[in-house]
Amino acid sequence: MLLASRRSLGAVLTAGLFALAACGDRSATQTPAQTPAARPQPNPAAGVVNLYTARHYDSDQILYDGFTRATGVRVNRIESRPDLLIERMRTEGAQSPADVVLMADAGALWRAEDAGLLQGVRSEALESRVPAALRHPEGRWFGFARRARVVAYDTARVRPEEVATYEQLAGPRFRGRLCVRSSDNVYNQSLVAALIERWGAERTAAWARGIVANMARPPQGGDTEQIRAVAAGACQVALTNSYYFLRLATSEDAADQAIAGRLALSFPDQQGQGAHVNISGGGVAANAPNRANAIRFLEYLTTPEAQAVFARANNEFPVIDGVPMPEPVARASNFRADPTPVTVYGRRQAEAQRLLDDAGWR
Ligand code: FE
Repeated sequence: MLLASRRSLGAVLTAGLFALAACGDRSATQTPAQTPAARPQPNPAAGVVNLYTARHYDSDQILYDGFTRATGVRVNRIESRPDLLIERMRTEGAQSPADVVLMADAGALWRAEDAGLLQGVRSEALESRVPAALRHPEGRWFGFARRARVVAYDTARVRPEEVATYEQLAGPRFRGRLCVRSSDNVYNQSLVAALIERWGAERTAAWARGIVANMARPPQGGDTEQIRAVAAGACQVALTNSYYFLRLATSEDAADQAIAGRLALSFPDQQGQGAHVNISGGGVAANAPNRANAIRFLEYLTTPEAQAVFARANNEFPVIDGVPMPEPVARASNFRADPTPVTVYGRRQAEAQRLLDDAGWR
């Protein structure tokens, strides 16, 4: 009964259900996925792995195809927003076909962990390759790619020394000149959670009020929209994840290149704590029917081959050393990162959300 029900859900998975992208940044130029003709043929004897993923990057198909090529395992995926995936798994309960859960933020991984949807796994490969600060202490999730939350600024109107710290973004210099997305986005929640850890609640609350006072417009759109707004002159500084800017900078579209050409990135706090870093990561689902394949999939994501895909196809920073990166990504990767363990973002998430609400950051 259980197996039959899982098989039918598997059929739904195979058919592919593609829900809303997690961050509203799907419209940005991306590396096109491979054509179906170039897809590797799975080996039926190797079985399947069912992914529930909140990563919203078309280029991830390259990772899935690479795994199938290396192992013969067929990859089924459901792509949706973090909270919808969590809700779905709660509803499915012990019948859930999910093997692997992938999220694009440590705060979102914490929500899945907190809901009891992830199991701890031991893996020599994962524990030796993923730095301790980028994974759950009991193996409930592991980080596979790093991204920094940084400042994109208009080089004609802002000097680099004016955006050298997160603190400066909230200062009077930028009244009405800042673009930032809404506070219901987990990227901002994780940044604020990290700032609370760094500065304490009071100072972080004052910072958040300064950010609200500096907004050029009410929060709208994803990170890419904030970058585009700076290029269009609606504001002069914006908070964004690093890969969105690098995606425009490495795009073959002349208009995207022109946008990136007018702007520069500042990695804040290079003289202090370092820039805020988050992860894309994943773990094994609590009721994974294909547990061994799930662990193989996670391990594959830490191979040099897969790590290079994160860098090449989505402009993220690898978690292992010695991975070849495109020149702009390699150059950007050379920054001082805040060493705070990413588990803090989940632990302080509720506090961060309350602080953002109190500051009026919509
Ligand atoms: Fe994103």
